[in-house]
Amino acid sequence: MTRESLLAFDRDHLWHPYTSMTDPAPTRLVTGASGSRITVDGVGEVVDGVASWWSAIHGYRHPALDAAVRGQLEQLSHVMFGGLTHEPAIGLARRLIELTPAGLDRVFLADSGSVSVEVAMKMALQYQRGTGRAERTRFLTPRGGYHGDTFHCMSVCDPEGGMHTMWSGVLPQHVFGERPPGLGGDVDAWAAEFRALAARHADRLAGLIVEPLLQNAGGMHPYPAECLQVFREIADEHGLVLIFDEIATGFGRTGTLFAAEAANVTPDVMCVGKALTGGYLSLAATLCTAEIAHGVSASDSGVLMHGPTFMGNPLACAVASANLDLLATGAWADGVRRINTGLQALHQIDAVDVRVLGAVGVVQLDHEIDLVKATEAALAHGVWLRPFRDLIYTMPPYVCTDEDIATICAGIAAAAEAG
Ligand SMILES: *Cc1c(COP(=O)(O)O)cnc(C)c1O
Repeated sequence: MTRESLLAFDRDHLWHPYTSMTDPAPTRLVTGASGSRITVDGVGEVVDGVASWWSAIHGYRHPALDAAVRGQLEQLSHVMFGGLTHEPAIGLARRLIELTPAGLDRVFLADSGSVSVEVAMKMALQYQRGTGRAERTRFLTPRGGYHGDTFHCMSVCDPEGGMHTMWSGVLPQHVFGERPPGLGGDVDAWAAEFRALAARHADRLAGLIVEPLLQNAGGMHPYPAECLQVFREIADEHGLVLIFDEIATGFGRTGTLFAAEAANVTPDVMCVGKALTGGYLSLAATLCTAEIAHGVSASDSGVLMHGPTFMGNPLACAVASANLDLLATGAWADGVRRINTGLQALHQIDAVDVRVLGAVGVVQLDHEIDLVKATEAALAHGVWLRPFRDLIYTMPPYVCTDEDIATICAGIAAAAEAG
């Protein structure tokens, strides 16, 4: 099929994320990828400034990751996880327990980030039931968050904008506090208010769910690490299950392996996803402490009520283990530091705000960005970007060279100019 006929079929029959079926935005054909670059048909090789939604941290077609998938393919592609288990899942769980903060040693393997958040919320609810507090069915969460697109995930996403207005009467009602201040902001004033809100609703609250250190798809908002201690204290004071959604921040993105480490805080439940397989296959995990696991098991059902068909898929587990082995060498930290230095160039762009944290760079404009114009301008500079609202950001693969990062910064500047 020609490029034109492929794209015509795509336009008529395929839904893309957050896109209209009747009036779709332009979509481009990708024919390959290698290292930090994707090959866009009609454009050529461009640096992927988004790392396939923050997942391809080691770049594309990494030899170790390719080998892990191939090797596993020759053993076992999939088998149900009910009543059966296998080495890829066990090996991955072992690595996750080792790498994540101490105490998180019970692992649920989910097939996507949203599912892992659903499982985390279910754990919190079942834990409260199991400890005699079945009336605690709500969640406390700061505004400005994003936790996925399935219904309970949506219910704890930022309540402004489409999701909640559209689904009022459908979504469960939770308790929203102010989002933490930006870096250098007044933590004490925010904390006092957040604590008071928690105290008012405590007897109905099952858990507190947050994206630690950096709110991502809800607005690319980094905040001071000391806020994580405030969350921990609130959860302890009122008996809430503290859930850290590290799906975006995990695996080095913010400068520490997990954002939780920046404040030395251990949550009761932690979700990881996105970069877990280095961008190869869909996989996520929900880790919890023994205490949570015991509470869940003491609930009326006696079991955790969840079990996806593709739970613990061996191909995904094998590539995730290879990814964690690459991370365990520690080389990622140099990459992230180097990228952080390179991204400081974004401060030269004329913008409302520029935020750089770890291997994340964000430029906020004073208007809604024209996605089509901004994307084209970036592509013309050899960069793939996916701006949203008034934000142009990059979360590039850690293997980007200094030149790649300079190219990304030039692409962002061009997108800001055009969009
Ligand atoms: C992407 C994301 C999710 C949802 O993960 P999916 O794999 O897209 O379902 C949840 N939480 C955070 C913080 C995310 O960035």
